[in-house]
Amino acid sequence: MKVYLDTVGCRLNQAEIEYYARQFHAAGHTLVADPQEADLAVVNTCAVTSAAAADSRKKIRHISRAGVDEIIATGCWSTLRPEDAARLPGVRRVVPNAEKDRLVPDLLQISEEVFDREMLERELIPGARLRTRAFIKVQDGCNNRCTFCITTVARGEGRSRTIAAVLEDIQAVLQPGEHGEEAAQEVVITGVHLGSWGQDLEPQTHLKELVTAILRETDVPRLRLSSLEPWDLDESFFSLWSDPRLCRHLHLPLQSGSAATLRRMARKTTPESFSRLLQQARAAIPDVAITTDIITGFPGETDEEFEETLEYVRAAQFAGGHVFTYSARSGTAAARMPNQVPYPVRKERNARLRAVLAESARAYQEKHLGQVLPVLWESATALGPEGWVLNGLTDSYIKVRAVAPQRLWNQITPVRLTGWFEEGMQGQLAL
Ligand code: SF4
Repeated sequence: MKVYLDTVGCRLNQAEIEYYARQFHAAGHTLVADPQEADLAVVNTCAVTSAAAADSRKKIRHISRAGVDEIIATGCWSTLRPEDAARLPGVRRVVPNAEKDRLVPDLLQISEEVFDREMLERELIPGARLRTRAFIKVQDGCNNRCTFCITTVARGEGRSRTIAAVLEDIQAVLQPGEHGEEAAQEVVITGVHLGSWGQDLEPQTHLKELVTAILRETDVPRLRLSSLEPWDLDESFFSLWSDPRLCRHLHLPLQSGSAATLRRMARKTTPESFSRLLQQARAAIPDVAITTDIITGFPGETDEEFEETLEYVRAAQFAGGHVFTYSARSGTAAARMPNQVPYPVRKERNARLRAVLAESARAYQEKHLGQVLPVLWESATALGPEGWVLNGLTDSYIKVRAVAPQRLWNQITPVRLTGWFEEGMQGQLAL
């Protein structure tokens, strides 16, 4: 069977379709880059914003128009709106998040054990979802109730995968595949609430133990941690960075710099405790890139509260991040709150905050101008006789572009940072 895989949204959704790719491949099926060639398609949907939900529906309609009449919808949007998903053209099955880990064996009517008998080789997803870095799911669900968050509603209670299962997945992607798929040079561990990994295990443990085990038991060249909630971390966590394979990048969602707004969001952090964590991380990890997420226009956010956030972000000197315009998600407590902020005000605040974040991101990059940093090349585009245009990432999450005589895709090479292009820094190979 020819299978087309697609997703919208977070790294966890990407990690899940990468896992499906390995299972379909192990079961003898072929992945295709274009839905027009496919007999079956799986779409991992997202509900984090109304735009993401709309994208999910659009993708399913596009795949149906491409001629696929066996579409499986899974993920957060289809979990929250199963009837709407089932009504979309070509959708034959809606698999809720609670059952998505068994999606492939259930679909192929084979027992899950089949996939436990041997290591599931790395199988790169052809086409738009091809990723050089391997995304590995280590945790799902969340026990927090941030009032704006629909993910905790769609994904259910927090649950951790065992160290053994995670190590097996990582070992698998560190092996070259039978079709010459190259071994992963970087592994990104991800979850809905990554920092809560281990809290539900017996005996209870902490993410620090999982990262320690991965670094001890595998030869992973680069290990990156995806988004971490600030309240899950303490100073001792940063001792992990004594291992240079751990990427010097922390994504810590702040969401707001105003204590009052954070209380209405039911976030378990304060501006003061967040600042302490920034100081501890920067003291322990030289040159660490700290990026963040901020929501503008959260219900009840006054001009004063927004100014607090603006000043806080200016002082925090983040290396980058995402600014989301508050989007009411039905089923969340915030959607029922009074004092909803008018949309134009939310948008205007978003633009002002992006400008401040862009300034500090530039300042972070300027500190590295002229330095030589290791870059993992994630794409290589033929230029002709001049060679290849390479695009990649430093371990500190700076986007880098360079021209090279060789196609250095999926390789980590030293690069001198020499200037800027629209999305990041220009570089010269320092081989
Ligand atoms: S911790 Fe993250 S996933 Fe959990 S409710 Fe809050 S925002 Fe949502």
